[in-house]
Amino acid sequence: MQESFRIAEVRGIPIGMHWSLLVVFALVLLALSGGLLPVTVPDQEPLAYGLTGLVTTLAFFGSILAHELGHALLAQRRGVEVTGITLWLFGGVARFRTQPKDPTDDLHIAAIGPAISVALAVVFGALGAAVAVTGAAPLVSAGLGWLGLINAALAVFNMVPAAPLDGGRVLRAWLWRRKGDHGEATRLAARGGRVFGLALILIGLFEVAFGRLGGLWLVLIGWFLITAARGEETTSWLSGLRVGEVMSPDPVVAPDWLTVQDFLDDYVFTHRFSTFPLRDFQGELSGLVTLGAVKRVPSDRRGAVRVREVAVPLAEVPRLSPDTPLEEASGQLSPLSGGRALVFVDDDLVGILSPSDLSRAIERGPLRRRDEEPDAASEPTEPTEPTEPSQRA
Ligand SMILES: [Zn+2]
Repeated sequence: MQESFRIAEVRGIPIGMHWSLLVVFALVLLALSGGLLPVTVPDQEPLAYGLTGLVTTLAFFGSILAHELGHALLAQRRGVEVTGITLWLFGGVARFRTQPKDPTDDLHIAAIGPAISVALAVVFGALGAAVAVTGAAPLVSAGLGWLGLINAALAVFNMVPAAPLDGGRVLRAWLWRRKGDHGEATRLAARGGRVFGLALILIGLFEVAFGRLGGLWLVLIGWFLITAARGEETTSWLSGLRVGEVMSPDPVVAPDWLTVQDFLDDYVFTHRFSTFPLRDFQGELSGLVTLGAVKRVPSDRRGAVRVREVAVPLAEVPRLSPDTPLEEASGQLSPLSGGRALVFVDDDLVGILSPSDLSRAIERGPLRRRDEEPDAASEPTEPTEPTEPSQRA
């Protein structure tokens, strides 16, 4: 999920916000100011409910941000490349370009988020109790008490052993250490995510059936968990593979000054590729053209439009090396370049990585495992370098 607004940057980590956060912000504010606070502490001014609700809601999202910053900053210290943090509908996610290098780092980076939530729960709870003892500001102590409870709830929910939740990451780290196979550990933790997601959907539907519309929220979260877990299961089959093993080697480079018609005649119909790097008059690479882009040129314009006009400029095409771990590479393929990347050794173009190369590798994944590691169960291998770009909540 992409951020809609950038709100801050901490140690080079961009912190963004998705518009869907505004929806949940409004819901929390409404539930506090219009429901929970007036019920807990009756007979106060409407403005007091509104202000306490607003400050409490802001502190709630501050708590979520602190949880995510915990993941991101520790990951950064352990050498993981952090792409950013986004706050959105279901809280927050910290996005990583690379993965922790061993199970211990994986475990620590996952566990620090819930640990921060527990610490916040204790601090807010203690403050709330202290204010309650003085009896001076009942609304403030109610707000603090709620912050303590919600942070405790966040810690508990996140520790359910279901990827992509933190508890699922902890489970993955443990399985990774025990079995020595990062891909298999990821799949087992993701299975937990699917089971838990399904359970949330069923509970949610049950609530809706009894007239409690709040159950829809559980259905949404469950659906999100299942989708994310499926994605992790899929990319886990890329674990241990490198770009050079699955790319399409020796791409055919076409001149970028050809008209679309000449390009179709001389290249598309005479070669098996569906993507062609382009070179300019000086022989330098200038971009990448896909069949999809060529198809969008109306047939009566094909003799006039040059192929470079419909190409993706070179600067927007991800550059990979044959040694790049495939999980890391899959996270870098951007829709801008039609999901393709060019593969270089030094400055020499040696291949193209396309979505179909990735799907082929994923499809062959289950076969490859059994073929290549017949005694992986009895004899743990060295942990493979894990590199899938990942998110954690
Ligand atoms: Zn977390």
